Amino acid sequence: MLPGLIIRSSSIHAAGCYTMRAIKKGTRICEYDGPRLTKEAADELYQDRFVTYLFGYGDKEMVIDGFGTGMFVNHSCDPNCETIEEDGHIYVNAIRDISAGEEILYEYNLYDSDDATQDCYCGAKNCRGTMFSDLELKRRKKLAKERAKGTAK
Ligand SMILES: [Zn+2]
Repeated sequence: MLPGLIIRSSSIHAAGCYTMRAIKKGTRICEYDGPRLTKEAADELYQDRFVTYLFGYGDKEMVIDGFGTGMFVNHSCDPNCETIEEDGHIYVNAIRDISAGEEILYEYNLYDSDDATQDCYCGAKNCRGTMFSDLELKRRKKLAKERAKGTAK
């Protein structure tokens, strides 16, 4: 984890991760770390829980149960970071220069959620209005079409 990161209340979501120092583009900011679970075990563990910090990786059969700095990084449709996967580790990297005092943000690209919506309130000019990935939106559209036709299970 980079020195100078702090967790404080965020206008986007309850708490967010901020940097007290300027960060250069390409810098690795922190790891999305936590216990590893199978997706199945996580579903069972969190079936009644409203808020989870699960991050799918690899072939998406495994999830990281977020613990520590990474779990406080909020979603934005106009992010200053991206997540990259390296040998089963998820890292948050800066995709542009970040000024001191800015909130650290990346796109969640959520998928495989039982929730009907994952509305986004990030406030970016290009806000997509949802935290789902394009792929997930496509999948849902197709599903809705099939349902309308009465072909879905
Ligand atoms: Zn947004």
